[in-house]
Amino acid sequence: MSEGCRIEVRGTVQGVGFRPWVYRLARRAGLAGRVWNHSEGVTIEAFGGAGSLESFVQWLRDDTPASARIRELRLSKIPPELAEDFVIEPSEGVGARALSIPPDLATCNKCEEEVLDPNDRRYRYPFTNCTECGPRFTITTDIPYDRSATTMHDFALCPSCEREFHDVMDRRFHAQPNACPECGPKLSLCEPDGTETICDDPLATAVGLLRGGAIVAIKGLGGFHLACDASDAPVVRKLRARKHRDEKPFAVMARDLAVARSLANLTTEEELLLSSQERPIVLVERRPDAPLAAEVAPESPVLGLFLPYTPLHHLLLREVDRPLVMTSANIAGEPICKDNAEAIARLGGIADVLLVHDRDIAMRCDDSVARVIAGKATVMRRSRGFVPRPFQLKESVDRPVLACGAHLKNTFCIAVEDTAYFGPHIGDLETLAAMEFFEEAVDRMQTILSVEPEVVTHDLHPGYLSTRYAKARGGAETIGVQHHHAHVVSAMAEHGLRGPVLGIAYDGTGYGNDGTAWGGELLLCFTGHFRRLATFRPIKLPGGNLAMREVWRVALSLLHDAFSGDAPIDEFPLFQRIPDESIRVVTQMIDRHLNAPQAHGVGRYFDAVGALVLNRPDSTFEGQVAVALNVIADVTERASYPFEIDRTGAVEIIDLRPMVRAVVEDVMRGVAASTISAKFHNTLIGATGAVVRGLAEVIGQPPVVLTGGVFQNPILTQGVLAELQNEFECFTHSRVPPGDGGLALGQVLIANAIVAEGSTPCA
Ligand SMILES: [Zn+2]
Ligand SMILES: [Zn+2]
Ligand SMILES: [Zn+2]
Repeated sequence: MSEGCRIEVRGTVQGVGFRPWVYRLARRAGLAGRVWNHSEGVTIEAFGGAGSLESFVQWLRDDTPASARIRELRLSKIPPELAEDFVIEPSEGVGARALSIPPDLATCNKCEEEVLDPNDRRYRYPFTNCTECGPRFTITTDIPYDRSATTMHDFALCPSCEREFHDVMDRRFHAQPNACPECGPKLSLCEPDGTETICDDPLATAVGLLRGGAIVAIKGLGGFHLACDASDAPVVRKLRARKHRDEKPFAVMARDLAVARSLANLTTEEELLLSSQERPIVLVERRPDAPLAAEVAPESPVLGLFLPYTPLHHLLLREVDRPLVMTSANIAGEPICKDNAEAIARLGGIADVLLVHDRDIAMRCDDSVARVIAGKATVMRRSRGFVPRPFQLKESVDRPVLACGAHLKNTFCIAVEDTAYFGPHIGDLETLAAMEFFEEAVDRMQTILSVEPEVVTHDLHPGYLSTRYAKARGGAETIGVQHHHAHVVSAMAEHGLRGPVLGIAYDGTGYGNDGTAWGGELLLCFTGHFRRLATFRPIKLPGGNLAMREVWRVALSLLHDAFSGDAPIDEFPLFQRIPDESIRVVTQMIDRHLNAPQAHGVGRYFDAVGALVLNRPDSTFEGQVAVALNVIADVTERASYPFEIDRTGAVEIIDLRPMVRAVVEDVMRGVAASTISAKFHNTLIGATGAVVRGLAEVIGQPPVVLTGGVFQNPILTQGVLAELQNEFECFTHSRVPPGDGGLALGQVLIANAIVAEGSTPCA
């Protein structure tokens, strides 16, 4: 007695070998029927005996392919049909929405073996892929995900590839980017002026050049990298000089885990993260004896390390046989290069040679960055390997929402119904090129999701380009959201919390409801509204944004405040490096409140104390001095400095002036910087604990969430957790970045709540 069953599958089920797998299961169960892709997922109609159907459904649930994510499996009974076979039907055209384009997938073991096997027809072929691995999001131009809607559509399959593509028993059955040396994309080598270098084997030539100390621009999955031998100090220095990147660390790619272990002290969690399918850059502790040029990450024990994720990387790393610097190829402030002509125009002055190919990149997608923080893998930059994987929301949004994100480290987010989709990492929205990338990426995400956002949300800061974009877009309701409220709600969303929560949002800066720069905030938060309960005593920033770079200004301001206008600058070698005239002018700015806006950011305290203790007048990139202060802390030091909490106003104030005076005493006594740094961290942890306990007496004991860029600091995160988790239920970030790269998710939910409740965002 034959029965019929329709199974609707939702989740990441396209481009991951899902239909062939269903086909094989159906054959194994002896069922007839069909399976097809459409814009909302996959539908299966199966016919056969009740027992066979039951086992089939059980296998579907239990044995899902590694790259697929089944979010929902809906069964319904349908009339039986006299079908003879099980078939894969062509995809249905564009419907409501595509929820199921997978992220780019790191090369699988089988494909890696093939490209290393001299007897395989894909030996040393850099574009080898299968249904389990290869490019996806970055080659997708439209939906549904089929070869014709990717940048592979111009490459006609050769007879061998065609056979694989149509053979259900082959692991390349319906692998949309399937290719081989006969029919697929090809490498070529270019001079910086764009003329092609004539050579038999561009890969081998590039390998020889890299070993000889050249800088090579390499076209990857989501854009170009600039590569050079990471053990060769002169070439790393040359790359720094040409890229005008004085001190910011470069990421290093190691050929495999064994080499990675020779470069860094790795924990089990870090090894898992390094070899995860997303293959992010992982921040790890560099070994003192690592065979790496010091110039890779000047003065920092933290190393950004990652493993190969395309066949081209595997081949390069094996043949060069040294770790390579692999840094995003862009000009400062601009997005990563993706097109050959663009790379030649923009990188010609940096690279000695360009290793390019003829498969276009449809969407830029930078490498992701992650770190193990308090024992937990934490994404710091969510991009290649993650985008556009859906993020499941606890509650649906009423209307499609576009959240424009923050100003620095921008990532946007689009939410439809109960799912949110982060866009790729855009970077700092400070140049026209970055803004163009932002708009291009938003348009592309709208296309592949087939959605037109009806609510557009942005940061409260009126001057941000993302705010102006949101307001200029038209056709949608626009809603401004407070920066730290958005941080807290992004963490709430990750853990399905509805509020109230006590949000501890520590970062560098964010526009406050009162127009001042917030950033050391304790907020009582619900999704749609919040109340500011406590903050840090503000520091004046003489020169405004200039004080973010010239951190000695913040240091002077901090001393001036702690010593009532009589800063003991003679005690610090730092100020001997600054011209007297500059010190006089900045002191006047502080005294007379001239161009010296108030800032509450915890990041500013790191800058100021770091400048004083490390004798560092400038920060050449965001967070440089803060991270330098963090990494030297002596974690065995238990002592801390005094602080006060002023509970007299409507918002409690954490006052660290007693700490600053004690730091000065320690410096005068010649106490080691590593000890002072540890005592500074311990003070922040202790002050946070004290203020939270005090607030709990009034508001009870809601769950506590830690969020904001400062919680990318493992010592602080671990310390605050240890301080609070016996008394409070504490939550930290993991899948959503704690910094501004995760902000857009909070913006989505707040905007949705404001629209739904008509609530006021703050009190
Ligand atoms: Zn593969
Ligand atoms: Zn072929
Ligand atoms: Zn922030």
